[in-house]
Amino acid sequence: MTIQEIFDRFDSIGSCVFATIGNGYPETRIAHFLACDEEGLYFMTMTTKPFYRQLKESGRVSVCALGADPSVRMTEDRQLEMKPGYFIRVTGDVREVGMEEIKAKNNPDFAYGIEDQERYPAMTTFVMYRAKGEIYDYDFDMKTRDHKLERMRFSFGGFPVEKAGLSITDACIGCGTCMRGCSFKAIRKEGDRYVIDGSRCDECGNCLVHCPAGAVRHKGL
Ligand code: SF4
Ligand code: SF4
Repeated sequence: MTIQEIFDRFDSIGSCVFATIGNGYPETRIAHFLACDEEGLYFMTMTTKPFYRQLKESGRVSVCALGADPSVRMTEDRQLEMKPGYFIRVTGDVREVGMEEIKAKNNPDFAYGIEDQERYPAMTTFVMYRAKGEIYDYDFDMKTRDHKLERMRFSFGGFPVEKAGLSITDACIGCGTCMRGCSFKAIRKEGDRYVIDGSRCDECGNCLVHCPAGAVRHKGL
């Protein structure tokens, strides 16, 4: 995915949750991305806020947003119903960008930010220049396709990406219990082996709990 495509996904949602660490605790607030270019994703804050101090102290931020109707309904047969949608998240390194650097870009996408910074001099801009993230596209009731999840991981600026999903090791004895029990349809048989498709796997752990051979590798403790 390009930086522009990542930005467009966040921008179509608008309000996003920005998380930093303050005095050892996670802290969140609602904000939005201002613009993007080939270096990364840009956002603004004010130098008078704890958000600014935390960004300067750690040089890191994590952002997520929900692109869907957020309501969750209980059906008559006591199942939770969520309309199809997607989560998007990105985590990475940030640096403060000076006004002169922003102006030198000569990019109309930054016009609003420049005006805002001139109106409110305590405003400042950061760019997330190295990051990884994921789009978690869900249709839990399988109304639009025959599987629940499509997860897509991305990165830019050279940030390493961990593959989505759990995995099956050589300890597998080929009993098929995991595939029969996976409601996400994330497990398939390839010859004598069973494999997990990480793009469909929710990492729910159901296969791990029921595997008689301890062959499913997880990512927790
Ligand atoms: S349940 Fe375990 S042993 Fe059985 S097919 Fe799945 S991974 Fe292999
Ligand atoms: S962790 Fe859950 S979703 Fe992933 S393969 Fe196992 S049972 Fe399926």
